[in-house]
Amino acid sequence: MSKHVDYIIVGGGISGCVLSYMLMKYGANVMLFDLPNENKSSSVAAGLWNPIVLKRMKKVWRADAMIDELNRIYSDIEKWTESQFFDPISIRRVFHNASEQNTWTELCDSPGFKAFLEDKIEPLPNGIKGKFKSGKMKNTGRLQVVPFMNAVHDALKQADSFREKRFDWKNVQRDSEGVSYEDIRAHGIISCEGTQMALNAQSLEQQGFAPVKGELLRIALDKPLTNECIHQKYFMLSEGINKVTVGATYAWDGFEKGPTAEKRKELEEHLNLVWEGSFETEEHLSGIRPATKDRKPIIGPHELRHTWVFGGMGSRAVLMAPYLAKVLVEHLMYGTDLLEECLPSRF
Ligand SMILES: Cc1cc2nc3c(=O)[nH]c(=O)nc-3n(C[C@H](O)[C@H](O)[C@H](O)COP(=O)(O)OP(=O)(O)OC[C@H]3O[C@@H](n4cnc5c(N)ncnc54)[C@H](O)[C@@H]3O)c2cc1C
Repeated sequence: MSKHVDYIIVGGGISGCVLSYMLMKYGANVMLFDLPNENKSSSVAAGLWNPIVLKRMKKVWRADAMIDELNRIYSDIEKWTESQFFDPISIRRVFHNASEQNTWTELCDSPGFKAFLEDKIEPLPNGIKGKFKSGKMKNTGRLQVVPFMNAVHDALKQADSFREKRFDWKNVQRDSEGVSYEDIRAHGIISCEGTQMALNAQSLEQQGFAPVKGELLRIALDKPLTNECIHQKYFMLSEGINKVTVGATYAWDGFEKGPTAEKRKELEEHLNLVWEGSFETEEHLSGIRPATKDRKPIIGPHELRHTWVFGGMGSRAVLMAPYLAKVLVEHLMYGTDLLEECLPSRF
């Protein structure tokens, strides 16, 4: 007997989990296919969200709408899954020079930044070295990504809406009404396959991806650090008492290699510069961000019939996925407009 769903979702990383929930919230039912053990981006992500690009002190594209939707959706998913993974924590910017500090003070009073920047300039936390002071951000935080994905996968499993296996695009049959795959009949398929769309010939082929590799270290410090995320050139994210995650690096090649000695050295050298005490590296992880050529996500219809793409969120899926999922789901349900700058057809 065939199983009828509204949408098949391929890929259960941050994008696929958020989109599955959003579709269900709007009354659609889904079947999610995922290979959690192959997931090398969401499972590595630090999970931070931050509406400001700190290097340039600019707001992220559509940041206000994204923050609104993020607060709503992750809290809703916590209730649905009866789990806890959404932690609003502050991000502290350590200034590199006096001009950065002045820009911060000026921006604190401007309407667009007031909600995100604390106006107090503060000394550096215990243990942190630096020539200048620091400022704290508001409306920032951290999604514990692995517990979040596990909770969503488990809730979908209980509803018989999750299959832990590779989705094979070669076996999809399309007709005028929709698609058939294995025993499933659906209105359409949405690819949330992340970087696989660019790197794996078995995934849906979509132009426009420009993958960016990232590495981070899990570190034990010799003494405790405040419970926040400290951002200098890299972030130093408190994982409780004296543990921190330090990262992340950027590289545009070496995708097949995994963690590299070169990037470990880069991060450890940074830590030597900014941490007063000693430390020990306990774990070294790498992943590949699904970034795009023009740094905008890829959201909308694919050239294949009854097929959509939801991805390309680069280093900001935690922040972007809830808002973009709403845009796509409202388009699918009510025919509202998609975002022109994100359409897959632009590539
Ligand atoms: C070191 C590092 C640090 C990061 N830190 C942050 C951060 O702090 N905040 C933030 O927002 N982002 C961060 N990111 C970026 C973040 O990881 C990505 O934006 C996000 O993971 C993208 O999620 P996704 O669901 O689109 O893709 P993915 O995480 O790649 O998920 C795709 C999923 O689809 C599955 N899949 C693919 N093809 C198939 C198929 N045919 N059948 C079944 N399953 C399939 C894969 O196994 C995978 O599970 C970081 C990335 C790295 C590398």
